[in-house]
Amino acid sequence: MAVIPVPERLLHPMEFPRKLLMGPGPANAPPRVLAAGALPLLGHLHPEFVQIMDDCKSGIQYAFQTENPVTLAISGTGHAAMEAACCNLVEAGDVVLVLCAGIWGHRFADMVDRHDGVVKKLNKPAGETFSLSDIEQGLRAHNPKLLFVTHGESSSTTLQSLEGIGKLCHKFGCLVVVDSVAALGGVPLLQDAWELDVVYTGGQKVLSCPPGASPISFGPAAMKKVKSRKTKIRSFYLDINELANYWGCDGQPRRYHHTGPISNIYTLREALSILAEETLAKCWERHAKCAALLHDGLRQLGLELFVKNPECRLPTVTGIVVPPGVDWKKVADNAMAKYRVEISGGLGATAGKIWRVGLLGYNAEPENVKSVLSALKEGITLQKKSHL
Ligand code: PMP
Repeated sequence: MAVIPVPERLLHPMEFPRKLLMGPGPANAPPRVLAAGALPLLGHLHPEFVQIMDDCKSGIQYAFQTENPVTLAISGTGHAAMEAACCNLVEAGDVVLVLCAGIWGHRFADMVDRHDGVVKKLNKPAGETFSLSDIEQGLRAHNPKLLFVTHGESSSTTLQSLEGIGKLCHKFGCLVVVDSVAALGGVPLLQDAWELDVVYTGGQKVLSCPPGASPISFGPAAMKKVKSRKTKIRSFYLDINELANYWGCDGQPRRYHHTGPISNIYTLREALSILAEETLAKCWERHAKCAALLHDGLRQLGLELFVKNPECRLPTVTGIVVPPGVDWKKVADNAMAKYRVEISGGLGATAGKIWRVGLLGYNAEPENVKSVLSALKEGITLQKKSHL
């Protein structure tokens, strides 16, 4: 058998350019958060670490505006939280109505299918959102047990209004799951007041943590469904009963379930304390102001916003129409090569058609807006010149 030699590159330090991450995530993490991630490890059931988990729990309850006892962070990125919502709530044969206005609905639908749920989709073109009457029609037509909605559709840069959806679903005996990975903290979300049964987010967006711990909260009706399942939850790792115990949400002594991602939890604790210091209302306001500054600057450059209805624009991720004759990638490549600024292209239906600029958490600051605007301006001008 061949002997595998020592990988030569591992004998040298990592190459490490500093970049300004102005795409749809991850965002740059503040130095305080990075420093928290470098703290020495504790045991995952040591009392000091349990206290840090409890602090995270109350920070997530604040960020989500919920009193739900089953509030915790999933060990994994946003997709793991999405899978957790799906695997705990969907049983074979359950009808799930999925609102699709970009890639995230389709992705949840794929997960539902893997759990033998019956997927019904309501579709909107990229750039549009659902009205309550669209949703009501879907509920009447399909009589689902669960509805999935994406709050901030990062692929089509829309903000879906959530107000009224929870109440409407409950009138039809349907639970609602909200993906707020790209929106939470950047726009209001009131889980209890808006009757949202399950909400999840990611760490690396507005919270500006390294990816790896994803806040989620299950309300009482969602837990009732979990407790009354006829079949076993198909994932051990994401079983909310097990996780609720590990996170001290069920009043029982904590058992070992899995080894929590200790350093990720430290960073989440730090990010949530930064949010608590700033307050949610000020954080929402900062994102709104920066988005308005970006939108004004884009208009001055003669660029068009992808989402036409101002109320449906996601402040955390802005879609900009690529003008005819301009190669979006060359502009993004120029921004990266010259300024180390990340600007992203579209995703799914918007691929090749838009740029996406993130204003997420730590990065939602006026000077970063200026950097993006000047990088866009320069990239577009350079291309126009090369056409002459
Ligand atoms: N949902 C939405 C709306 C997202 O924007 C993302 C990440 N771009 C995810 C889910 C998935 O999160 P992750 O990449 O952290 O798994």
